[in-house]
Order: sequence, then structure tokens, then C-alpha cells
Amino acid sequence: MTFTGARRLGLMGGTFNPVHLGHLRAAEEISEHLGLDRVVFMPAARAPHKPGLDLASFGHRLTMLNFAVRGQDRFRVSDLEDGLPGPSYTANTLEEVAARLDEGCRLFFLVGFDSFRTVGQWHRCLDLFRLASFVVFRRPGLGSGLSSVGEVLARILGPFPDMEADGSGQGGTLSWAGFQPVHYYPGCRLEISSTDLRNRLVLGDSVRYLVPDSVREYIEANSLYHS
Ligand code: ATP
Ligand code: MG
Repeated sequence: MTFTGARRLGLMGGTFNPVHLGHLRAAEEISEHLGLDRVVFMPAARAPHKPGLDLASFGHRLTMLNFAVRGQDRFRVSDLEDGLPGPSYTANTLEEVAARLDEGCRLFFLVGFDSFRTVGQWHRCLDLFRLASFVVFRRPGLGSGLSSVGEVLARILGPFPDMEADGSGQGGTLSWAGFQPVHYYPGCRLEISSTDLRNRLVLGDSVRYLVPDSVREYIEANSLYHS
């Protein structure tokens, strides 16, 4: 049920340590903008690039995500990466997900520009753009645009292709022969980060109105991120 029964499925990876309203708003806006009928949040079991001194257990992060998506029918959570061997590489995950989709379902991978700008160093980098249509979105606090996405990709996929701007003139699509189209979405206005949340929690400060209430209550009940 997580991956079947959808025609346009978005996947959003991350550590979600913890999930916050910035993640949820990004998924909400992009699913609306691109007509996705489902977005699956996929917490990394063993993030290759994050050492994890203050990393809550996979089980806690998964539970918080399940609380966070409650009430939004389009959203799902998957524990798939916990069952895959080795580090949680996006290419391996996309391959596993692609094998589970209904015939004809289109797969989109949602990623903020802060993560995306390092994509050239990701495991099996070229395969990523064959397995899914990337949707890169603005990360508040960090400058980006359709052409900055194109610059990152030109180093990987070859010379700049034609850019197709959307109605707003800020977002749009880039296409390289042999690879799936890459979209840029310029919305996303909530400047919230999990790092900032963890810093507040260590100090005993409130995170109310930055995360869903159910997530805040779970963090408090389990004394997460307090030391
Ligand atoms: P940390 O500070 O621990 O890195 P984070 O807030 O960046 O946490 P991640 O789990 O690293 O959250 O991010 C998962 C995905 O969500 C990434 O693609 C990231 O760009 C995106 N994202 C995170 N915060 C926001 C936000 N406020 N608005 C839009 N996208 C976001
Ligand atoms: Mg991050």
C-alpha cells in the first residue's frame, strides 16, 4: 500500500531528526504544484554523511514521522531503508522503490537545494537521474534558482540543456537526453531546521509551532535531544 495505488509518487528522503513543519510544507506545496497523488517520507536508517551524536534512533524518527503525517491522506511513511544492507544510499533506495511501483507510475525524488548541491558526490550519481525525476526545491536561507540547479547538473550530465521556465518565471524544468527531467520549485518559505530544533531542546527551550503538537509531545514524553 505504501508504493502501490499511486500514479505520480513523490519520495522525500532525509534524517528527519526530528521531522518539522518545513518538511511537511515542502511536501504539501510540491505535491500540489506537480499533481503528485502521494508523497512517501523515507527516513535514512544509516545516513552516509551524518555522524549522528545527537541522532535519535530510527524507531523514534519513524514514530515521529507517523504522528506528523496523520490527517493528510496523501502522505505516507516508509521504513524501507532500515531493511536495506549498508549505508542508506539514495540510488539503492530508488531502485528498490522503482521495483515496487505499479506499471506506469512515475517516481519523483524531492530534495532541498542544500542537499542537492552535493549530488555529484552521491553513490552511483548518474543512476539517480535515470531512476527518478528529481524535484529540487528552495531551502529557505540559501540562494538557489533554476540556473543554479542547471550548474550543478552540467558538471554531471554534460552541457547546459534548454531550460523551460514555468509560469512563475522562477521554477521550471531541465532535460538531458537519456535522463529523466529535473524540476526546480521555488516556493518553500519556512526557515526551520532540525539542527536548530535540537539546539533549542538541549537548552530546554520550546519548539512549539515549529513541529506538529503530536511530535512535540512525543519528544517531551521520551526526553529526546535533551542532552
Ligand atoms: P538537519 O539540520 O539535521 O540537517 P534538516 O532540517 O536539514 O535537518 P533533513 O532531514 O536533513 O532536515 O532534510 C530532509 C529534506 O528536507 C532535505 O531535502 C532538506 O533540504 C529538506 N528540508 C529541510 N528543512 C526544510 C525547510 N525548512 N524547508 C524546505 N525543505 C526543507
Ligand atoms: Mg539537513
